[in-house]
Amino acid sequence: MTTASLIDGKTIAQLVRTDTAQRVAEFTTRTGRRPGLATILVGGDPASHVYVGSKRKACVAAGMEDHHRELPETASQDDIARVIDELAEDPRVSGILLQLPLPAGLDAEPLIERIPPAKDVDGLTTISAGLLAQGKPGLRPCTPLGVIELLDQSGVEISGKHVVVIGRSALVGRPVAQLLTQRNATVTVVHSRSKNVDKLTATADIVVAAAGVPKLVTGSAVAPGAVVIDVGIHRVDGRLVGDVDQDSVEAVASALTPVPGGVGPMTIAMLLRNTLQAAEAQSAIK
Ligand code: NAD
Repeated sequence: MTTASLIDGKTIAQLVRTDTAQRVAEFTTRTGRRPGLATILVGGDPASHVYVGSKRKACVAAGMEDHHRELPETASQDDIARVIDELAEDPRVSGILLQLPLPAGLDAEPLIERIPPAKDVDGLTTISAGLLAQGKPGLRPCTPLGVIELLDQSGVEISGKHVVVIGRSALVGRPVAQLLTQRNATVTVVHSRSKNVDKLTATADIVVAAAGVPKLVTGSAVAPGAVVIDVGIHRVDGRLVGDVDQDSVEAVASALTPVPGGVGPMTIAMLLRNTLQAAEAQSAIK
């Protein structure tokens, strides 16, 4: 028996994108310039090409400038650093996104750190992470922002709820747990060394699954009526699946994000919102 309603990430992402495009138009009228997103793509990874292509298209559709830079597989650490430095200096560029993963042999971390925090639209620099940890204004990672937006737009109350976040990565688990805490949730973070993960998730009002393990969360690990947000994306036997076993969880949860069409579309929508936020903050200090 299916009881859970599916949280429609495609429609909610479109709402965010339409709202952002409208605010971009207002920004452009007010300042005489468009926000600009610079994407940096190194090498020929096919999935990265698809992701960057979608980000660039969405950025243009929202009325922003597309400042794409492409480097060959053979690019050195210094070559990439130089491109980041140029974009950091360029006043037309509001946000810089270094597409990960980089080709083998390159070290992403020092390159990410070169991105000025004011242009860090992926929210991955140490300064952005520190601002989030301290609850100070700054740019937050896009997927965690997308999770919060999905809950808000679906009318799910966060304050006072017990949320179990599965995963503690810098990209998803840790920042989403911090954002939820700042929204007054009671947050439990579980990870690969946690014991009795199923028992813990079964006590949650909201489960956010970001473990990177296909179909990890099953119906027996979810409380009746819980809301389940599935961040995972995996290709299994030619099909996309998440970290949640949709069939068994649907019968227990009150609401669930599908894969595909749940969290996935939100990431680009929040990137656009971040780029506008960066442009607004930069224009305010000029
Ligand atoms: P990661 O591998 O960096 O982190 C996974 C985390 O899960 C780790 O903290 C680990 O301790 C924990 N974990 C692993 N196995 C576990 C288990 N059995 N029980 C409990 N915890 C466990 O991955 P990530 O970058 O955080 O991404 C997580 C998933 O989300 C992946 O499937 C990734 O593809 C997906 N993702 C989706 C989007 C999107 O836009 N939808 C964006 C980023 C990541």
